[in-house]
Amino acid sequence: MRCPYCNEEMICGSVQSQREIFFTTKPDKNWLIPSINKKDEIILSSHNWSKPTCMAYHCPACRKVIIDYSVKSE
Ligand SMILES: [Zn+2]
Repeated sequence: MRCPYCNEEMICGSVQSQREIFFTTKPDKNWLIPSINKKDEIILSSHNWSKPTCMAYHCPACRKVIIDYSVKSE
């Protein structure tokens, strides 16, 4: 995949976390009390019960990481 900013080839890899990875427009103010309202969240990771992982592409020149959540990691 080519970087949409500089058009160089990006490095394919993954983003991992100990918890599920999601995009939200309303970040929790307090991590200890997660919001009940999940409708504004898009889950990006798969394997959320074992090793939450997203397929991602990295451009070191632009310092961008792009997550393609249409692709589930193996
Ligand atoms: Zn770039």
